[in-house]
Amino acid sequence: MTNEELWQAVLARIQLNTSSNNFSAWFVNTNIVSKNEKDVVISVPNKIAKDWIQNKYHREILKAFRELNFNIRELDFQVNITSLSKSKTNNQEQEVEDPNINQLHFEQFDINRETNLNPRYVFDNFIVGSFNELTYAAAQAICKNPGITYNPFFVYGGVGLGKTHLLQAIGNKVYSENKNKKIKYIPSEILTSAIVNSIGNNTIEELKNSYKKYDVLIIDDIQFISGKVKTQEEFFNIFNFLYQKNKQIILSSDRPPKAIANLEERLRSRFEGGMIADINSPDFETRVAILQKKCQEKGIKLPEDVIEYIAENIQKNIRELEGALNKLIAHHKLTNEQINIEITKKLLKNIIIPSFQRKNPQKIIKAVTDFYNLKERDLFTDSRKKEIVKPRQIAMYLMRKELKNSFPSISRIFGGKDHTTAIYACKKIKSDLEKMESLNEEIEAIKQILYSC
Ligand code: ADP
Ligand code: MG
Repeated sequence: MTNEELWQAVLARIQLNTSSNNFSAWFVNTNIVSKNEKDVVISVPNKIAKDWIQNKYHREILKAFRELNFNIRELDFQVNITSLSKSKTNNQEQEVEDPNINQLHFEQFDINRETNLNPRYVFDNFIVGSFNELTYAAAQAICKNPGITYNPFFVYGGVGLGKTHLLQAIGNKVYSENKNKKIKYIPSEILTSAIVNSIGNNTIEELKNSYKKYDVLIIDDIQFISGKVKTQEEFFNIFNFLYQKNKQIILSSDRPPKAIANLEERLRSRFEGGMIADINSPDFETRVAILQKKCQEKGIKLPEDVIEYIAENIQKNIRELEGALNKLIAHHKLTNEQINIEITKKLLKNIIIPSFQRKNPQKIIKAVTDFYNLKERDLFTDSRKKEIVKPRQIAMYLMRKELKNSFPSISRIFGGKDHTTAIYACKKIKSDLEKMESLNEEIEAIKQILYSC
């Protein structure tokens, strides 16, 4: 196996276990530079990616290597100087932009440097079903008349449901049909860092002017501008300029505009002023169709029962479906073993949790107390201390959400308190989730503990 194949196998594993929708943003243009028995050097496109991966994924990467039978102890990250200088010399336009915009988003081979679009994301390989057909139709209409039909176009939906794919497919289509149009795809974290850096360098006006040249501006995961006052202010200015000139603005988010906390009212109302479209989770038949199409693309044939097993058990999102598939393919490449249902069950056991394991409030209590470093009995006291109240409420919330337990039964678990306690707890956590990104991360981390034990 080449280093590149090994790295792809590592990434496939990390992708499976990560709830973060930033996954692809941080790992594009990364690779293994060198490797010996114990150490691996990984190249990353820039310092931001380096810090992020080091802080958030260090352990996951080591774990993935171990799962692949490489007992790596040390990871070293190296900013890839050649890719930096290459892109600088290739960048003929004298635009003042954060170099990260052009760095982070070209994958190994083919991210278009001018548009930042990944040519892999096109309508030809975008599967349409009842879960996304309205959004797809709107996207098609936009391609016919960018800037006119629906502006802005705001797409929202959960992680891994195809927002990035759809946004980029629009960009690619407009680009392929009209090479004169200036199109730019920017993940909102990159927009934010570009704005912050250019304020620091006194180049904010140049930066804004460079954005104002676009005919189609696509900002992915706009929810991340929540609470970023400066970014919101500058983006508002860019938005208005483009909007008034009938330039197409396309945004995605994991939630509708009204649920983005700490978003200036004037921006929120702009976001709501065009077409808002959502993407839901695909149904079983669509999941099967997605898996079949992905197999075709990847040139692998899987038995029908394997496809159905995955489609039945992975319901939440398309990224996970794809992740499961990648895991099977990586295994097949490594061992040359034909994939059958037994191997599938074994390989996917960490992702697919038998329902009897899931339906257990005790497991939730254990996961929550593990996460907050509390004793299980702490949750059952009457303590009103914040350090106890919040975990207790989260445990109730998870029992409701993950196990669909009734409010009275949840209250009974916590010592027969009035069932309004459970109702209040769920409401409180829900509303906090809309306000606090960090709480979302905490709960995702607890769920990871829950589903891995
Ligand atoms: P999101 O941006 O909503 O988190 P992505 O667009 O990154 O999700 O999609 C996750 C993965 O699933 C990508 O590899 C993407 O190509 C694939 N995918 C998502 N939706 C579809 C679809 N309708 N048809 C085919 N592949 C899809
Ligand atoms: Mg996305």
